[in-house]
Amino acid sequence: MGNLYGLIGHPVGHSMSPIMHNTAFLRLQLEHHYHAFDIAPQRLADGIKALRILNVSGFNVTIPHKVEVMKYLDEVDQEAALIGAVNTVVNMDGRLIGYNTDGRGYVESLKCVLKKPLPENKVLVIGAGGAARAIITSMVLQGVKEIDIINRTIEKAKLIKENCSQFEAKIDLYSLNDLKVDLSRYNIIINTTSIGMYPNVEDVPLPVKSVRPGSIFSDLIYNPLQTRWLQQAEEKGALVHNGVGMFVQQGALAFEMWTGIKPNIEQMTNIVLKQLGG
Ligand code: NAP
Repeated sequence: MGNLYGLIGHPVGHSMSPIMHNTAFLRLQLEHHYHAFDIAPQRLADGIKALRILNVSGFNVTIPHKVEVMKYLDEVDQEAALIGAVNTVVNMDGRLIGYNTDGRGYVESLKCVLKKPLPENKVLVIGAGGAARAIITSMVLQGVKEIDIINRTIEKAKLIKENCSQFEAKIDLYSLNDLKVDLSRYNIIINTTSIGMYPNVEDVPLPVKSVRPGSIFSDLIYNPLQTRWLQQAEEKGALVHNGVGMFVQQGALAFEMWTGIKPNIEQMTNIVLKQLGG
């Protein structure tokens, strides 16, 4: 009999993770199954107990449980502790261990468009929520030395900067209305806000006035596949990168932690694109 894996969140009905993981299990002829468990916030403690009783071999964690779940785990790895959130749990002989594959998954997805080694890039991150925190932490851990953050609520950006203060990286902060921000100073510009996501598809996080030749504009959004902001950047000559890669790679890293097998990224990407109608 195969193992049981899953996703906990609220809601989870829209998630593409079950079809992505179950298809990968099927293609590898593994008898495992991945199920989406809808757990309301007030039932989280009971939900984790139930997963322990069922001896679930591993699970992903999504909104709104990524921070709260840490209380109920036996151990949280260093990167996840630094990020302050867990998106992947591995059951090691009855001990639930929390990891965060969001930042590493994002960085992995970026590799297909990188022109030079990651640490040599000057990065601007728009937004300072959970996804920004995971990406900035992973980038700093992987040696990026200059990362600026621009956010509507500057206090949230300050918290990320403080959190990374033990590392070498130089982090400057800007407010979203700051007109001094010149996008042509950066090699990589990442939108981690939900600005431009369906149904508000005409919105852009920052106007694309100038683009450094060969720079990368990256948007975590995958609905639509190409946001208005990415369209504007591409028209000005930038390389563009959407959120599908991050979604697939964070799942692929979890899959590998659970099974010891690297899944086929191209097949996983095609499944996700099919779900998105792309
Ligand atoms: P979050 O923690 O709620 O953070 C949202 C961020 O967006 C905050 O910085 C917030 O600014 C900013 N923001 C939202 N609406 C805004 C507006 N109207 N004007 C200005 N700033 C605004 O969310 P998250 O978990 O980081 O997710 C952020 C985005 O990334 C979402 O679109 C999500 O779907 C996407 N995402 C994609 C993947 C993937 O696999 N591709 C994974 C995770 C997340 P304040 O701090 O001022 O509130």
